[in-house]
Amino acid sequence: MKLEDKVIIVTGASSGIGEAISLLLAEEGASIIMGARREDLLRDLCEKINTRGGKASYIMTDVTFKGDLDRLVKHALDEYGRLDAIINNAGVMPLSYVEVMDFEGWESMIDTNFKGVLHGVGAVLPYFLEQNNGHIINISSDAGEKVNAGSAIYSATKAAVNVFTEGLRAELSSRKGIRVTCIQPGATMSEIANSIEDPLVLEDRKNAKFDEVRKLIPEDVAQAVCYALCTSKRSSINEIVIRPTDQP
Ligand code: NDP
Repeated sequence: MKLEDKVIIVTGASSGIGEAISLLLAEEGASIIMGARREDLLRDLCEKINTRGGKASYIMTDVTFKGDLDRLVKHALDEYGRLDAIINNAGVMPLSYVEVMDFEGWESMIDTNFKGVLHGVGAVLPYFLEQNNGHIINISSDAGEKVNAGSAIYSATKAAVNVFTEGLRAELSSRKGIRVTCIQPGATMSEIANSIEDPLVLEDRKNAKFDEVRKLIPEDVAQAVCYALCTSKRSSINEIVIRPTDQP
């Protein structure tokens, strides 16, 4: 087991990519502390992991509140006496054309996708700096570089995560023990697109036959996370872009 004795926080663990990451890292021996807002899903997943002989716990978490991330870190240190990594994965994607002026959707993407990552980093960094050890993995998106009609704000939040992660990596390189990774998946099967309501975006996706593209499954992204975590401490995997083979 490659991650035995490691303690890892996963945000957005209640479904999709975060759920797959939690399951895979637990299989590799890590103790997983999961955060998200839907308690029933977290409870079921926690039970599933523990029944399989893994180690998991959860705390209801809204990443738009920095205090919630602090609670996850406190839980790790109180319960396990250590923290090795955080996977900042929570995200939302209510795509819409800018002309629709969906300010609520824009704010939820900025607060969750970008500020949520800042909150996660802000919560773990004091401890990682004290230890000169730790790994921060941010789940961004290939949309951070490839912008489509309807994805302007979502892509902006993911571009912000990319740029922030690289700046953080540059700063932390002098600490020699803290690794930073940005993972940018392409289209992945999950419920994230269910919140798209703008008819313009829905029509574009239909015309592009988006639903017919053979997508990644969440486990594909989880494997990329596991790879980044398991490489030697000497090497820091800075970025992984992982797209479906069929995605243009
Ligand atoms: P899901 O919708 O399945 O998962 C999103 C997760 O984020 C859920 O667990 C949700 O849990 C959680 N979440 C949302 N808002 C908050 C919040 N305020 N606080 C805490 N948790 C929150 O989608 P994916 O698995 O696809 O998405 C995971 C990440 O992967 C996102 O960052 C997304 O942008 C990124 N991504 C996804 C791609 C895809 O095609 N699916 C492609 C590229 C990147 P809950 O509702 O219980 O809080």
